[in-house]
Amino acid sequence: MDGVPEGDTVWLAAQRMNTALAGATLRRGELRVPQLATVDLAGATVTEVVPRGKHMLTRLADGRTLRTHYRMDGSWHIYRRGTPWKGGPGHAIRAVLATDVWECVGYRLHDMRIVATSAEAELVGHLGPDVLGPDWDLDEALRRLRSHPDEQIGVAILDQRNLAGIGNLYKVEALFLAGVHPWARVIDVADLPGLVDRARTLMLANRHRPAQSTTGETRRGQDHWVAGRKGRPCRRCGTTILLGDQGPDLQERITWWCPHCQAAPVPVDPRARTGGTGSEARRARH
Ligand SMILES: [Zn+2]
Repeated sequence: MDGVPEGDTVWLAAQRMNTALAGATLRRGELRVPQLATVDLAGATVTEVVPRGKHMLTRLADGRTLRTHYRMDGSWHIYRRGTPWKGGPGHAIRAVLATDVWECVGYRLHDMRIVATSAEAELVGHLGPDVLGPDWDLDEALRRLRSHPDEQIGVAILDQRNLAGIGNLYKVEALFLAGVHPWARVIDVADLPGLVDRARTLMLANRHRPAQSTTGETRRGQDHWVAGRKGRPCRRCGTTILLGDQGPDLQERITWWCPHCQAAPVPVDPRARTGGTGSEARRARH
């Protein structure tokens, strides 16, 4: 669980990369993946580094953008020039962007692409509103979530086409705080805006620090409500925290929840759906 990149991790990394690189000319610009091995970014000036969901966009003054993605295990490390690199073995390095002062080293990065800055939408245009973006749009995120009313909320809230930036940690913690069962359908979540807002609030609270606490406690073992706590007692009610797999094949994510604080939705009676009472009954279980 620890170290799995979330949108706030990418946000913080982009802020630091931007501080180190914006306005500077690259002394080294190596991309160590086969399809980009011949690209040399040395001599290019970095305009800015911006996060977009869990993507990082490094924009260059010559009209190109380098897109990188952390997926599950990637990271950028920033070193003052001349200090040792400690982010992992050399073969895990995928990118080196260095100025006269700073050396930004990307380990285990994924989805590296160089595109025209004007064509960035090809890479990130499918993303929903960015939870930590300056143009965050709650209504649009809700519209996208509700366009798939029968999807499981625990899957829908991770789908970056609905809203961009939320990863597994903030998913499980926000669902707990909102009292929503991970397998509830989107349409059955009584307060969808409240749930999304919970997740965003957690990410905003953590975006300036690498440690991700959702409880307000930073001590290890005290910092999460349910994540990583299978078999332990719920902090609110003492019920044993459960663990399950959720999501389509290959994208399956482990999910923790409290079966008491996050009661399972009432099985759907199709006849009740048209009358409107069904959702009231389900709501009462929360
Ligand atoms: Zn509980």
